[in-house]
Amino acid sequence: MSPIRPATRLLLGFSLLLAACAHHDRRTDALYQTSTINALMEGVYDGTETIGELKRNGDFGIGTFHALDGEMIGLDGAFYQVKADGTVRDVADDARTPFAVVKFFSADKAFTISGSRDMAGLMRELDALLPTRNAFYGVRIEGTFPWIQTRSVGAQRTPYPGLAEAVKNQALFEFSHIRGTIIGFRSPDFVQGINLPGYHFHFISQDRKAGGHLLGCRIETASVALDETGDFHLVLPRSDGFRRSDLGRDHRSELDTAER
Ligand SMILES: [Zn+2]
Repeated sequence: MSPIRPATRLLLGFSLLLAACAHHDRRTDALYQTSTINALMEGVYDGTETIGELKRNGDFGIGTFHALDGEMIGLDGAFYQVKADGTVRDVADDARTPFAVVKFFSADKAFTISGSRDMAGLMRELDALLPTRNAFYGVRIEGTFPWIQTRSVGAQRTPYPGLAEAVKNQALFEFSHIRGTIIGFRSPDFVQGINLPGYHFHFISQDRKAGGHLLGCRIETASVALDETGDFHLVLPRSDGFRRSDLGRDHRSELDTAER
């Protein structure tokens, strides 16, 4: 065996470095999800993953908290909890979530939309702009919104009711001419049972004093950024609640009522 010559060694070192970079990029572009939407539908609300763990996998995202105690918003690395009384709190790293979707947000496409539209109009418009509906997208929309409607849900008691039951007591909030950010994801139709097919948006105001799960909006002018990924990392909880639940049921119509 001949010894590796310096030039070869340099090339080898360079390609190892490239391989390390490629690996790094792939890791940081992944959509990271803990638990499944069907687990929430079945009332699996025990928080299993800490916010600290989530932050290692994304700086942007949505979800909920232990016992379904409010709506989660992650934006620019900060995580917030919108409580059922409408207040917004900073979330400690040791708080736990039963369901969350996060990503390191890095826009692949950015553009401005203008002209009045509601939430259905917004979703149709975004759909027409997507390169494919068979990928995941982080969606970030900034603007001053003429009208926003959000909701939050209060902490549930055991034995936990399913999500369709729990949201019957949701608190609704309405805001007009509010500046802030709509944060969310678009998932492909084939994620049925795992995530919410289509769009799932949360909102937080620029002053971080209002927000929640987005139920309706009116948009005039806003800047939109899309971050596409085909890399999906799903982490299943090891809790008894998750492991014992029937997670294969068809919740499509209930899910539509609960989340839209
Ligand atoms: Zn939500």
